[in-house]
Amino acid sequence: SKYSKEDIFRIVEEEDVEFIRLQFTDIFGMLKNVAITKNMLGKALDNRCMFDGSSIEGFVRSEESDMYLYPDLDTFEIFPWRPQQGKVARLMCDVHCPDQTPFEGDPRFVMKKVLKKASDMGFVFHAGPECEFFLFHMDEEGQPTTDTHEMAGYFDVAPIDQAENVRRDMILTLEEMGFMIEASHHEIAPGQHEIDFQYAEGMVTADNIMTFKMAVKAIAKRHGLHATFMPKPKAGVNGSGMHINMSLSDLSGKNMFEDPEDKLGLSQTAYQFMAGILHHMQGMTILTNPLVNSYKRLVPGYDAPVYVAWSARSNRSSMIKIPCARGESTRIELRSPDSAVNPYLALAACLAAGLDGIEKKMTPPESVDCNGYSMSVEEMASKGIEQLPETLGEAIEMFRKDEFMKEVLGEHIYTKYLEAKEAEWRMFRAQVTDWEVEEYLYKY
Ligand code: GLN
Ligand code: MG
Ligand code: MG
Ligand code: MG
Repeated sequence: SKYSKEDIFRIVEEEDVEFIRLQFTDIFGMLKNVAITKNMLGKALDNRCMFDGSSIEGFVRSEESDMYLYPDLDTFEIFPWRPQQGKVARLMCDVHCPDQTPFEGDPRFVMKKVLKKASDMGFVFHAGPECEFFLFHMDEEGQPTTDTHEMAGYFDVAPIDQAENVRRDMILTLEEMGFMIEASHHEIAPGQHEIDFQYAEGMVTADNIMTFKMAVKAIAKRHGLHATFMPKPKAGVNGSGMHINMSLSDLSGKNMFEDPEDKLGLSQTAYQFMAGILHHMQGMTILTNPLVNSYKRLVPGYDAPVYVAWSARSNRSSMIKIPCARGESTRIELRSPDSAVNPYLALAACLAAGLDGIEKKMTPPESVDCNGYSMSVEEMASKGIEQLPETLGEAIEMFRKDEFMKEVLGEHIYTKYLEAKEAEWRMFRAQVTDWEVEEYLYKY
């Protein structure tokens, strides 16, 4: 590991760190934290910091409310956007029960279990996301709107792209926090952006996604803007996805998805991994697309997938794409997820599904290399291609039937997640939307 306890004490002293945020993620992907002062650092590093878990939604029952935070030393980072005298740092934590056992409602624990399974099979899992987000103006009360003044599109340059300095600030901040930023650009919709950071081992990437969203929001706010990772904030333009690039290497670091002999340059392992994801996709879509709003993005015409299919050609509609890079960069890209995910659960589900494909030696269906948007559901069905769930309600039904996902998540998270999503769907179903009023009020 990167840091010892002594390193942390030394850095805190040298860097004039005054506050340490002990962070963890709830099952719905919300980052939580409790701040301690540096006087309490020794206690925290001895895993003796406690919090009341019963106030965190879907976490624990009230009779088992005392939970312990076990900091992961390697996640120590200083927040560059906070005061630089008496600095603020954070540590990502695992959540443990009073009897010191890992808490089964902790998403990091689920991820660890699946990563352990991968390493037992001789694999290291690598993942790299492409996070898209919108920058919107705030109103006079400081509340976020869905307004943007800019009209830039894909890859546009300044002055059409009005946010180059905001992205620059975000990237410099992320780099200060140890991120390797690979690319950034204006996205297709006005006000929409993408910043890509380097892939890493699965747990690091899940932590990075949480950190990334926090930093992007903090920097946007400093520029008087609101950064949102909401999957589809505006009708009529693209939504924001979080494509996930994935690969397996062996324990020595050799990419296991590559095979120069194959016509697409992919190994059997890669095909099986992809087949596993395709096989389990419908049941796990609730984890890759968790909100009512997520399904507004997964419609034809907005560069997001609607069918459970794959392609090695560039194809705006395919759910899994094989990027053309080979060698060490050989990977598959899952294009359905959005940034509203809990990254620990989403990555754990993807990895578990892929490993299942390898274990069961699954074969993927034929690739779909034409534009899937132009094909009818019937045409697709005749090729054995399924649709992604069209609503959160459908995703709930697929998840409810899925014993495999139940096993991956464990009873606790599976049940809490299902209950919460059912409640969310019930609430949405009871709403009357602006669209309905506009469409029906006068006519009927
Ligand atoms: N915004 C699109 C999505 O919803 C992706 C567009 C792109 O990256 N080319 O997934
Ligand atoms: Mg991209
Ligand atoms: Mg993009
Ligand atoms: Mg992509």
